[in-house]
Amino acid sequence: MNILNIEENIFLVDTYKDGVFVFSTADNNLNINIKNIHQIESTLKKIFKLNSIAYAEQIHSNIVLDIKKHLQQGDALITNESKTAVGVFTADCVPILIYDHHKKVASAVHSGWKGTFNNILSETINKMIEGYRCSKENMIIYIGPHIRKCCYEVGDELKERFLNKGYSEDVFTANYLDLNKCIKDEMRKIGIKPSQVLEAPYCTKCSMEYKFHSYRRDDAESGRNFSFMFFK
Ligand SMILES: [Zn+2]
Repeated sequence: MNILNIEENIFLVDTYKDGVFVFSTADNNLNINIKNIHQIESTLKKIFKLNSIAYAEQIHSNIVLDIKKHLQQGDALITNESKTAVGVFTADCVPILIYDHHKKVASAVHSGWKGTFNNILSETINKMIEGYRCSKENMIIYIGPHIRKCCYEVGDELKERFLNKGYSEDVFTANYLDLNKCIKDEMRKIGIKPSQVLEAPYCTKCSMEYKFHSYRRDDAESGRNFSFMFFK
């Protein structure tokens, strides 16, 4: 993972073949959310040589969108256009970026506990296969910074819901929920190999190495991290 400094703001950047994965941080108080992204959009487009940056009005659903010009409600976006970024805003939820490097199809997924519980990752992968003729074995799946089990304590009721749905006891340590493990278990079930999974190993709430926005830490004051990907 490389560090890119854009006007004193730190972005974490990684590549796989011609796919580029980008995660904003909260260092220098950078906050990229749906209301203010227009302020940085032209800078990002210039630096990454993009034609456009697509994002959605996120509603903690498992709705997967094909990108369109107008803003839509949903929590995952797919594109097969080069130089077109797809991105999601998060503060603790899990950003997941998917790239099929053979078919050249890129996706961005917002997977909080609701999206994870409702299998938004599988929904997105299925849509990539059905709508874009992608193959699972050609996908690279990048898990971005999110709240880790060190900091994600949930109530008994939510724990019960996860266990009743068939999640293993191992996704909990007492009441601390491991969304990362939930997502990796789901990937294993659908046949994604660990070698296809890349990861930014940071907890949005307690990371000391980089600062990230965290809803659990900052509550309603929290800004958003923006995670996006594109291919050249
Ligand atoms: Zn933590």
